[in-house]
Amino acid sequence: MKIRKGDTVEVIAGNDAGRRAEVLRLVPGRRRVVVEGANVRKKHQKQQQTGGQRPLSAGIIEFEAPIHVSNVMLVCPKCDASVRIGWRWAGDEKRRVCKKCGESVDS
Ligand SMILES: [Zn+2]
Repeated sequence: MKIRKGDTVEVIAGNDAGRRAEVLRLVPGRRRVVVEGANVRKKHQKQQQTGGQRPLSAGIIEFEAPIHVSNVMLVCPKCDASVRIGWRWAGDEKRRVCKKCGESVDS
């Protein structure tokens, strides 16, 4: 995956298009990422009584649903723009580079 946890990305599709935020979580198996504040869904939580455990409080829970990696683009810290990513080998290490400025986007 070209996107990693902690990256700043720009959402390019859906209701949150244009939003820039940090990647909180990866779902590599489904090629999805969870982006802070993007694709927020509401879940109605019923009060639950589970044997012995503390009951979960009822109410509406907001959570970020994963979005497909093709709907986000990495923001290059040097270009300050959403850019396409290429790969470059630095010794044995595969580094991500910005296709616009050619600089590494990994610190
Ligand atoms: Zn760049």
